[in-house]
Amino acid sequence: MITAVYPGSFDPVTYGHLDIIQRSVEIFDKVIIGVLNNQTKTPLFDFEERVEMLQTVTQDFPNVEVVTFQGLLIDFTKKMHANVIVRGIRAVSDFEYELMMAQTNKQLCPEVETMLFATSAEYSFLSSSTVRELAYFQGDITPFVPDYVKEKIYSKMKEKRK
Ligand code: ADP
Repeated sequence: MITAVYPGSFDPVTYGHLDIIQRSVEIFDKVIIGVLNNQTKTPLFDFEERVEMLQTVTQDFPNVEVVTFQGLLIDFTKKMHANVIVRGIRAVSDFEYELMMAQTNKQLCPEVETMLFATSAEYSFLSSSTVRELAYFQGDITPFVPDYVKEKIYSKMKEKRK
């Protein structure tokens, strides 16, 4: 049985993330989405909100679970009894960091493989930060996030602008 962990901030989840999730569920027996609860960063959505949005938009996948974690990714991966870490690569700029992380994690735990998924071309420019910025200035984010997430971002931004 191959279990993969797909870690990230998901602040918020976008169609780029969903593309990677959709492709991962076809390959692995189980996909655990690891939502990083980083105490040193102030996200737009707290981790409960990010988990709830991810659970909603992945509810049709029977082999997906959404779990939060703190601390080292490799410790979380071992705790989940996963054998693979999935990450997405959008551009060469992502590659250097991802390679470094993959090699560090391999050193820390040789049994865990990192698999880097090349983003689908239509999402190669898409990031959560772009979506947040667009939404803040009331731009149209319809092409980038599911409607459920879109409504959550717009209402969050409305609060922020008050
Ligand atoms: P992090 O803060 O760990 O980079 P993100 O939530 O931004 O977390 O991203 C989680 C993972 O999803 C990363 O591997 C990232 O490269 C990937 N990712 C983000 N946006 C896209 C996208 N548009 N297409 C493919 N992969 C993406």
